[in-house]
Amino acid sequence: MGMTDRMTELAANLANVEQRIAAACAAAGRERGEVTLIVVTKTYPASDVRILSELGVRHVAENRDQDAAPKAAACADLPLKWHFVGQLQTNKVRSVVGYADVVQSVDRARLVTAMSKEAVRVGREVGCLIQVALDAGESLRGERGGVAPGGIEELAALVAGSPGLRLDGLMTVAPLTGEYAGREQASFERLMVLSTDLRRAHPAATMVSAGMSADLEQAVAAGATHVRVGTAVLGVRPRLG
Ligand SMILES: *Cc1c(COP(=O)(O)O)cnc(C)c1O
Repeated sequence: MGMTDRMTELAANLANVEQRIAAACAAAGRERGEVTLIVVTKTYPASDVRILSELGVRHVAENRDQDAAPKAAACADLPLKWHFVGQLQTNKVRSVVGYADVVQSVDRARLVTAMSKEAVRVGREVGCLIQVALDAGESLRGERGGVAPGGIEELAALVAGSPGLRLDGLMTVAPLTGEYAGREQASFERLMVLSTDLRRAHPAATMVSAGMSADLEQAVAAGATHVRVGTAVLGVRPRLG
């Protein structure tokens, strides 16, 4: 089949991001295969997800259940893994567990309990990343979700002991405030140290999700296994998403 204009555009953007990841891996002395690209498709239509799948993308991410649920349903025939990366309310758990392969924004016990119950009910296994707030300061949780580093161990143990859930690792978003503001690579290096700690008790929890369009190089340099890229593949979003 021929390339549509949108397909040509997405193919070029993907090639550019691929080149950036490959260069960052080379600079860090890492194999390209150590880093998985997750394309964040939030605010973009299911037709774009379909094109990305044709172009070889295998991991997509969404941050709002209202948008994600119909998109995942429209793309159910595609060989995609769906990641949920937004703040998750317990009243959305039933829906999200229906399509998400991995929830990257696990940050509190009540959410874990609700997800486990639903995963067991529908007979699915859901991968979980603990979202770490590196700007949480003395409080337990960050402004934009996430648990403070001191809360990781307890939450990880809860996930690991919950039927229907699988502890896959850690996720963070480079903080805009606090001691790591403007220091993306330092924040990702901190996440790697926390990951090393976590893997002592949970050796299979190897995923480290960090880095977006603007800072994927710093994430790869720090050791991230997964980068979450939206804008650089799909274009600037029409609204904050
Ligand atoms: C939107 C989003 C991304 C992608 O951000 P870009 O800057 O568009 O690449 C990554 N992670 C999370 C949690 C997001 O919400």
